[in-house]
Amino acid sequence: MLRIENMKTSLSVVVLLVSVGFISAEERMPNILVILADDLGYGDIGVHGCKDIPTPNIDKLAATGVRCTNGYSSHPFCSPMRAGFIVGRYQHRFGYERNIAYDPHNKHMGLPTSETTFAKRLQKKNYHTGILGKWHLGASAPFHPNRRGFNHFYGFLGGGHDYFDVDLTRPIGEGYRVPLQRNGKPTNLDEYLTTALSKEAVRFVESSKDKPFFLYVSYNAPHTPMQAPQETLDKFSSIKNKKRRAYAAMVHIMDEGIGQILQTLNRLNLRDNTLIFFLSDNGGPEMANASNNGPLRGQKGHVYEGGIRVPFLVSWPGVLPEGKEYHQPVSSLDIATTALETAVVPVTKEAKLDGINLIPYLAGKRKESPHGALFWRKENGKAWAVRAGSLKLLKVESSPKMLLYDLSKDIGETNDLTKAQPEDVKRLKALYDQWNKANTPPFFPSFRDYHRLMDKHYRSFSVPQRSNKE
Ligand code: CA
Repeated sequence: MLRIENMKTSLSVVVLLVSVGFISAEERMPNILVILADDLGYGDIGVHGCKDIPTPNIDKLAATGVRCTNGYSSHPFCSPMRAGFIVGRYQHRFGYERNIAYDPHNKHMGLPTSETTFAKRLQKKNYHTGILGKWHLGASAPFHPNRRGFNHFYGFLGGGHDYFDVDLTRPIGEGYRVPLQRNGKPTNLDEYLTTALSKEAVRFVESSKDKPFFLYVSYNAPHTPMQAPQETLDKFSSIKNKKRRAYAAMVHIMDEGIGQILQTLNRLNLRDNTLIFFLSDNGGPEMANASNNGPLRGQKGHVYEGGIRVPFLVSWPGVLPEGKEYHQPVSSLDIATTALETAVVPVTKEAKLDGINLIPYLAGKRKESPHGALFWRKENGKAWAVRAGSLKLLKVESSPKMLLYDLSKDIGETNDLTKAQPEDVKRLKALYDQWNKANTPPFFPSFRDYHRLMDKHYRSFSVPQRSNKE
């Protein structure tokens, strides 16, 4: 029912745009642009109070849109978040809650082909679709982005990459060293990777100026390895911590690239017809890349806020307010539904999407919270969390004890309320148990276990077969 109402609202937005002259009925549908940073800390953008790294272009995006202060990733680390995001369903529904190993020979380990990406749904609606950068949803042929709804792919299939040309002497994982590819064909990297991705994004926008597009810019910045050009490192010489200096340079170059993409949209007169999301795939791993999660407890990998609450901006001038803050919890899972309803792609009940179309909420037309509750689970339930209203119940791996926090008063999750509010513990636990009933166990081992098993049974190990219905 809610979905039908949202669809009506989305349709009415389009009708409104037509009637007030923003678009004519013959003109293109709105473009969708998702810019995903990798391992960016909650506190590491100017509008969240970052002092040592200027991010003028990300800040401008916030100034021309809505800043979701309670924006969440559906997982505290990379690959599962991307699975949930690109489908629009909790990734646990299809057994995807571990980081995937890079293995171009394993034909079973990747985003199950029984799942349909929202790129595929948009492609069927004649959107020109592209992904640039990190895929991380399977490295063998059945999982290739070109087979999962993307007309154009420039990037790499693994979970990260060397930022400079491939140095085979560097002791890093195979996936980080394979040549970049453009639609399956290996290609040389002759400049800093983040810059190359931004330039490709500009070219993509230019090449699709006459048709609606969905572009997913999947920067691996500022994920490790901590690498940046010397001239940019020199700009941040006042930062004494070497890792933080490299991080600052990496974020700075990504911010510049975002500026170039925005300028291109402006130049081609597409800015007002483009719905833009900017977010990070998970919280900052403060130890690994010297990121900063601001007031949040924990980091990447945790179900504390530091692992899952991320910078989350939504901008669509003329449709959404500008410079507004939005405080209700929203999720990376909402992007698919929002994009599809914006593009007026029918979303049937059978698709089982978990997201909500955020436009009516961010536009101020609907006042209630978009979600009754949001959920997280990792390692087959060894750690989990549920947030309902301002309350959050969670369990971490290292303890059997549950913890309850009121995030409206305690953003740093320091004051456990389980003893003071046992009824809330019971209520939130029941919500989690209900949600968890529809989940399935992880269908592939973690990448660490996988490599250990691969060492032992080289190439003879394979994960259980799943049905691969399209
Ligand atoms: Ca990540």
